[in-house]
Amino acid sequence: PKYVYDFTEGNKDLKGLLGGKGANLAEMTNLGLPVPPGFTITTEACRHYLSHGDMPDGLGEEVAAHLAALESGMGKRLGDPDDPLLVSVRSGAKFSMPGMMETVLNIGINDRSVLGLAKQSGNERFAWDSYRRLIQMFGKTVLGVDGELFERAIDELKGEREDTDLDTPDLQRLVETYKGIVRERTGREFPADPREQMDLAIRAVFGSWNAPRAVLYRRQERIPADLGTAVNVVAMVFGNLGADSGTGVAFTRDPGTGQRGVYGDYLQNAQGEDVVAGIRNTVPLQELEAVDPVSYRRLLEIMATLEGHYRDLCDIEFTVERGKLWMLQTRVGKRTAAAAFRIAVQLVDEGLIDMDEAVTRVTGDQLAQLMFPRFATPEGDGRLTTGMNASPGAAVGKAVFTSARAVELAGRGEDVILVRRETNPDDLSGMIAAKGVLTSRGGKTSHAAVVARGMGKTCVCGAEELDVDVDARRFTTRDGTVVEEGDVISIDGGNGAVYLGEVPVVASPVVEYFEGGHPDDELVAAVHRVMTHADSVRVLGVRANADTPEDAARARRFGAQGVGLCRTEHMFLGDRRKLVEDLILATTPQERQAALDALEPLQTADFTGLFAAMDGLPVTIRLIDPPLHEFLPDITDLSVRLALAADQAPEKDRRLLEAVRRLHEQNPMLGLRGVRLGLAVPGLFAMQVRAIAAAARRSANPKAEIMIPLVSAVQELELVRDEAAKILAETGVDALIGTMIEVPRAALTAGQIAEAAEFFSFGTNDLTQMTWGFSRDDVESAFFGRYLDLGIFGVSPFESIDPDGVGRLMRIAAEEGRRTRPGLKLGICGEHGGDPESVRFCHEIGLDYVSCSPFRVPVARLEAGRAAL
Ligand code: ADP
Ligand code: MG
Ligand code: MG
Repeated sequence: PKYVYDFTEGNKDLKGLLGGKGANLAEMTNLGLPVPPGFTITTEACRHYLSHGDMPDGLGEEVAAHLAALESGMGKRLGDPDDPLLVSVRSGAKFSMPGMMETVLNIGINDRSVLGLAKQSGNERFAWDSYRRLIQMFGKTVLGVDGELFERAIDELKGEREDTDLDTPDLQRLVETYKGIVRERTGREFPADPREQMDLAIRAVFGSWNAPRAVLYRRQERIPADLGTAVNVVAMVFGNLGADSGTGVAFTRDPGTGQRGVYGDYLQNAQGEDVVAGIRNTVPLQELEAVDPVSYRRLLEIMATLEGHYRDLCDIEFTVERGKLWMLQTRVGKRTAAAAFRIAVQLVDEGLIDMDEAVTRVTGDQLAQLMFPRFATPEGDGRLTTGMNASPGAAVGKAVFTSARAVELAGRGEDVILVRRETNPDDLSGMIAAKGVLTSRGGKTSHAAVVARGMGKTCVCGAEELDVDVDARRFTTRDGTVVEEGDVISIDGGNGAVYLGEVPVVASPVVEYFEGGHPDDELVAAVHRVMTHADSVRVLGVRANADTPEDAARARRFGAQGVGLCRTEHMFLGDRRKLVEDLILATTPQERQAALDALEPLQTADFTGLFAAMDGLPVTIRLIDPPLHEFLPDITDLSVRLALAADQAPEKDRRLLEAVRRLHEQNPMLGLRGVRLGLAVPGLFAMQVRAIAAAARRSANPKAEIMIPLVSAVQELELVRDEAAKILAETGVDALIGTMIEVPRAALTAGQIAEAAEFFSFGTNDLTQMTWGFSRDDVESAFFGRYLDLGIFGVSPFESIDPDGVGRLMRIAAEEGRRTRPGLKLGICGEHGGDPESVRFCHEIGLDYVSCSPFRVPVARLEAGRAAL
C-alpha cells in the first residue's frame, strides 16, 4: 500500500487514513491557502508499527522520496549546514485528541546547521533559540527525558527575565546545558543526523498513540483504541524571528456562545507551542490588526473562506513569519452545547446549510446538557471531594441521611440532599423528596445513579473519600471535615464535585421552554427550530416511562406521544405496602380476595389519573413485576425484632417471618416475579386488569395497552392473555394486550410469542442482564471498571445497547415477531430508550417507538430525528 501522501494528494474526507490534521492540511493546500508544504504518513503505517513494533517495509524509501520532493520544492535540504530545511513532525488522528499526543518542531538542527540557519535568517538569536527548543522537545517526547529538567534549566537562566530577553550567548549556553541533560539522562549524545532525528520523531509520534493520557482520553470520548495516528511532516515556518513574526489561534465564531466575530489569541515572536504552554501572556487577536494589518486582513479573509468551505465553525492555527501569514492547522472546532445550537441555526440563516443538516449538527447529549440547572460559578473553591458524575445538574440543600428525614424536611419546604452510602428501593421516597443524591459507593449504574437519571435528579455517586455514618447523621471527608445533618452542601452532577455551603444555581431556560414557557432567548429560539424540524423528520415515536399523572403530564409537555411503561409496582409502595402485606399473608381465598378488593379501587384511581394526563394517547401499563419479598420487611431485622420480643411477639409478626422465609430467594431477579408471580398468585393480575378496565370506562379517550412482563414462553402469555381478554370483553373495554421481551428465550421464540401478543416492548435492562448473565445491581462496583480498562466493552451495556449480543436478540425478535404478525407494534422501555446510541439502533431495526424517562423525551426526539437523516 501507499503509506505517504503529499499535501497536494489528500483531502478533507480522508481523515481515517491521513488523520484530521493531515486531511485538513491537504484540503487547505488544495484550496490554494498558504500552507507550508509537507506530507502525511498514514494511520495504516502507524497501525503496522504498533502491532509489529517496527515500520512497514518500504516506508523508509517512500518517506525518503517525499522528503526529496519537499527539499527540491523548497530549494533546501533537511539539516543542510549552509541553508537547512527544518521540519515539524506532528501527530494527528482521525478524531481530534487535543494535546494528547506528541509533536516535535525544528527537526534538522545540529551544531553545524544552526550556523547556516543563523546566516540565512540573519538572526543568530533565532537560530540558537530554535536549537534549544529542538533539544527540549525532542529530549522530552522522543528520548523520554523528564521535561521538568529542561524547564528548570531555562528558568534558572532567565531569572526575572522573559524568554525573549535571552540573548545569543545565553541560548548557546542553554543548548550546552540541554545537551548535558540528554547525555546524562539517556547515556548518549543528542542525535546530530537530521534524518535520524526525523525517523526517531516519527516513531515517537506513532508511539504516543498509546501514551497513558491518550488512552484515558479515548476511553472518555469513546474513541476506538485501534485507529492509530497519522504523522505530518511539515516544512517549518518561524514565528520566532522577531517582532514582525508571531503565532496564534483563531475561531471563526465564539465557541462559547456561537457569536460571529474575531476570536483568538496572538503571541508575538513565538513558536506555536508557546501559546498552549502559556509561557507569556497572549493578546486578543484583534491586536494583530495594529501590529500587522496586512496579515490580519488576510487572516480574516481566510477564516471566511474556511467557514464557507467547511460550512461550520472552524478553529485555526497560524503563524506569521516576517509579515507573511501561514496556515498550520484547521478543523471543525469543538464548541459548547449552547453554541452548537446557536451556530446550527445561524448557518441555516446564512444559507450555508439546510435544516436537515442543522439537526445533524447537534446531539442529544448537548441538548441534555442544556436542560440541567447549573451552578453559576463553574469551578468554585471549597470542593469537599469529587465523586462520579452520575446524573447531571446542580443541587443545593441540607444534608440528610435517611429517606424519612428527607421527606420530613422537604415537607416543610426545605431543600435537602440525600446522603447515603448507597441507596436501595426503600430510598425512593427520599430521593423524590430530595433536590439531589450523594452516595459514597457505587458506580454510574448503581441504584442511586439509575434512578436519579430516570427522575432527572442530580446525583453524584461513588464519592469514596466520604465516610458516611448514617446512624450518627454525618459524613467525614478525608481531611477530617465533618458535615452534620442540616449543614448545607452543593453537588454538581455534571462533574461530580461536592461543595460545602451554598453555590448559587441558575435554572435552564431550555427546560422552561419545554415546560410550555416561551422565554425570550436566542438559545431557546434555536432549540425550538431544531426540535421542530427533528420532529418533522423522525420516524420513531417517543413515549415516556411514567408512573404518575404528574410525570405523564410533564412528559406530554416535553413532547411524549404516550406512556411506554407504567410500572404498577411503584403504586404499591408507601401506605399501600400494608395492603400488599395482607395479600401475601392471606391463608384463605377469602382473605386474599379481601386484600385484592382493597387494592382495586386504589389502582383504578391511579390509572384514571394516567389516562386523563395522556388523554387520546396510548398508555402501556405493565402488570406487577418485582419479587414479592421486596414488599416485605428485611429478614434479619424481623428475626431480631422477634427474638427480642420473645413470647410477646405479635402473632402477625410470626406469620410475617414465616412468609419472608417462605419467599426468600437466592436469586430474586431470576425468581418469582413478572408473569410467574401473576400465575402463582391467583387474582392479582385479574385485579389489575379490572382496575384498568374500570379506569378506561371512566376516561374520555383512553388507549390502554396491557403489558405482561418477564414472559419466556408463549404458554405463559396465553394464560394471562385469555384471562385479561375475558375481563375486557365483559367490561366492554378495548385495550391491546402485549408483552415485554426481556428474557432471551422470549426473543428467540418471538415468532411464537407474537401469536399471543399485539405488541412487544423490549425491556432492555433485564434483557441485558440476562443475556450477559450480569446482575445489574452487583457487577458495577465489582468489575465493570476493570472490564472497561481491559476494553472488553467501551461503554457499559447497561448504558448503550450492546449491538452484537442484546441487539442481535432484538433484531431476531423484531423480525420473527413481525413475520408472524405483520404490523406488530414494537417499542423499547428500558433505560436505553433515552440513550442516543441506542435510539439510533432502535431506528435502524425498525421499532415504532422508544420510551424513556420524561426528562429524556426531548433528547430522544432529537436523536430520533438525527437517526432519520
Ligand atoms: P497539537 O495537535 O498538539 O496542536 P501540532 O502538531 O498542531 O500539535 O503542533 C504544535 C504547535 O506547533 C502548534 O501551535 C503548531 O501550529 C506549531 N507547528 C506545527 N508545525 C509547525 C511548522 N511546520 N511551522 C511552525 N509551527 C508549527
Ligand atoms: Mg495543533
Ligand atoms: Mg424487567
